[in-house]
Amino acid sequence: MNEQTLSMRLERVAAHVPAGARLADIGSDHGYLPVALMRRGVIAAAVAGEVALTPFRSAERTVRENDLDPWITVRLADGLAAIEPVDEITAISFCGMGGETIRDILERDKARLSGQERLILQPNGGEPPLRQWLMENGYRILCEEVLRENRFDYEIIVAERTGPVTYTAEELYFGPLQMQVRSPAFLVKWQRKLRQKHKTLNQFARARQGMPEEKVQDVARQAQWITALLAQA
Ligand code: SAM
Repeated sequence: MNEQTLSMRLERVAAHVPAGARLADIGSDHGYLPVALMRRGVIAAAVAGEVALTPFRSAERTVRENDLDPWITVRLADGLAAIEPVDEITAISFCGMGGETIRDILERDKARLSGQERLILQPNGGEPPLRQWLMENGYRILCEEVLRENRFDYEIIVAERTGPVTYTAEELYFGPLQMQVRSPAFLVKWQRKLRQKHKTLNQFARARQGMPEEKVQDVARQAQWITALLAQA
C-alpha cells in the first residue's frame, strides 16, 4: 500500500469522502488517504492529524514528496485538536483505530465539531459503542459496509448530524443498515462470529467456576441475536 495504491479498506473509505471535501484524517499515520484523494483531485484540501511523532514525520514526508504542502497540513495533535476553525473541515475520517478510541476522541473533543462534518469511520472492532455515541449525539448512519481484507473483517460507518435518531440494541450491535442489506460479507462475518461465540460458551462451560454469570449471559445473548439474524430469510 502507498499513496497511489490504497488498501481495499482505505479505498472503500475514500469512496465515502464527498467530492470537493475539506478532509481531516485523524490518526493519519503515513498520510496515504488524504494524499491519494488530493492526487486524484477528489478533495479540495486536507489536514492529516497524528498524535505520535514517527507517523507524523511519515505523513509529512508523504505530503512533501507529492508536492502537496500547499493543500495538506500535517499537524502533531491529539484527536480533533488537529482541526482549526480556519480549516473549514467538511469531512472527518478516523481509520484503523478501535471503536472505543474513536468514540472517546469524539466525546472528549465534541466542542470542536461544527456538526456540519460528515464522519467516515473505519473502526477496528468496538463498533457498537461507537454507534451508541453517534445515536446519543444526533448522528444518523447514512451508509455502512463490511469488507474482508488480510483475514480481517472491517466495517465502515458513515454518519452525519441530523438530529435525534433512535436505534434498537440489535441495530447498535449489527449496524442498522447492514441488518437490512445483509450483504454477503456481512453474513459471512456474522457466521464466523457465531462460531467464535459458541467456542467461547463451550470454554465457559468447561471452566465452570470463576466465570461471572453476567459475562456468560452476555455472550449467550449475543449468540442468540446472531442466530436469529442468520435465520432470517
Ligand atoms: N489511519 C491509518 C490507516 O487506517 O491506515 C493509520 C492507522 S494506525 C493503525 C492508527 C494511527 O492513529 C496511529 O498512527 C496512531 O498514532 C494514531 N492515533 C491514535 N490515537 C490518536 C489520537 N488520539 N490522535 C491522533 N492520532 C491518533
